[in-house]
Amino acid sequence: MKIAVIGGGIVGTCVAHAMLDEGHTVDLIDPEDAARAAVRGNAGWIAHLDIMPLASSKAWAHLPGWLMDPLGPLAIAPAYLPTLLPWLVRFVAASRPSKIASSSKAIWAINAASMGAWERRLSALGLDGELRRRGILCVFSNPSNFQASEAVHARQAALGVSVERLDNAGVRRLEPAFGKEVAGGAFFEAGAHVSDPGTLLGKLRDAARARGARLLSPGAIGIGSGTVHLASGERVAADRIVVSAGAWSKALAKMCGDRVPLDTERGYNITTPRGTLGLTRPIMLEGLGIALSPLDTGDRIGGSVEFAGIDAPPNWARVDAILARTKRVLPDVRIEEGTRWMGFRPSLPDSLPVIGPASGDPRVFYAFGHAHHGLTQAAATAEMVAALVAGRRPSFDPEPYSARRF
Ligand SMILES: Cc1cc2nc3c(=O)[nH]c(=O)nc-3n(C[C@H](O)[C@H](O)[C@H](O)COP(=O)(O)OP(=O)(O)OC[C@H]3O[C@@H](n4cnc5c(N)ncnc54)[C@H](O)[C@@H]3O)c2cc1C
Repeated sequence: MKIAVIGGGIVGTCVAHAMLDEGHTVDLIDPEDAARAAVRGNAGWIAHLDIMPLASSKAWAHLPGWLMDPLGPLAIAPAYLPTLLPWLVRFVAASRPSKIASSSKAIWAINAASMGAWERRLSALGLDGELRRRGILCVFSNPSNFQASEAVHARQAALGVSVERLDNAGVRRLEPAFGKEVAGGAFFEAGAHVSDPGTLLGKLRDAARARGARLLSPGAIGIGSGTVHLASGERVAADRIVVSAGAWSKALAKMCGDRVPLDTERGYNITTPRGTLGLTRPIMLEGLGIALSPLDTGDRIGGSVEFAGIDAPPNWARVDAILARTKRVLPDVRIEEGTRWMGFRPSLPDSLPVIGPASGDPRVFYAFGHAHHGLTQAAATAEMVAALVAGRRPSFDPEPYSARRF
């Protein structure tokens, strides 16, 4: 078949490869006008062991304090509040214990398939060297947060996730850059990260082109009757169309019969010269909402969730706030230079992506809304979409990710 994939971020590019595997011809459509794909500057983690939705008891415990601080780990721009309200109402509904349980079960289902899917994809393209297997370490500076985390770790362990709880000395044995400010840690040995997520996307796109995919640069402005309408006026005919335009997918989904409550959690970071942090593996600074990533291209310090929509300009003061919080735990780190970045996590209130057929057009399939897990889940999502397009049963139940759940 002829497949048009709208959006060439990490999800769309993996979908393109999965379609090429099936013998289809592929048009990968992405305007790339501002190198917008969220993966370009993200933390680079394959965070498949992370199973909790944003609407978890952990987030609610921190929420009041965070919301008091406009530069804190989670903030809502006052001017954006009216627009965000319907999303927030669903977010509150997604915080019921029964919903948290069903969302985390569905997160776990796709995450459990994620590492294997990445291994297959990278190995088939000769890109295995892009994966780093040094585990992921969560570090707690607050003793009561560390104690409270025991329940989540027990839940992960019950699912078969190997997690080692560490005292201060245990954390410092793994990462000597930390000092006495640390209360404890949790080491996820099976966690992984990539060399550099932007570099990986470039290599995957080049490989798709080399495998015969056409990369079309005008953006899509419409979908209808098996045709994608491009901003250039060109029309691309396709037997199947996949919408994978990240945070920009909402309007496209509406054209295909689905009103999805997609919004964006904007995230910020700064990339400093390699070795600045003196770390050997990805670190989550728990309670501070900060991820530290020693990538091949530099040490990335980032995180934060800001609800302010797609169009508002970045608030770079958030990066200064991230650095100030990082210094509480790594007081000796000196940061003299770095490149600041802001990206758009495509987020649904229940922290699950939208994957599956469109309600109004059987030729259209969705693959968007992966929020904090888009890099992690991209290869598994692509395998699922390829199976659904082929009419095969995917390796795990697609129902929880359906656009019809809203
Ligand atoms: C600070 C930060 C750190 C993160 N860290 C991690 C991490 O460590 N691990 C992890 O798994 N995830 C992480 N994420 C989340 C992850 O980056 C996203 O979930 C993921 O990149 C989403 O991929 P996507 O392909 O769906 O969307 P995107 O990467 O946003 O790509 C969408 C693409 O669609 C294109 N597009 C938009 N409109 C159109 C149109 N009309 N026509 C055609 N194309 C269009 C855009 O140009 C873009 O290239 C992080 C995100 C942020 C912001």
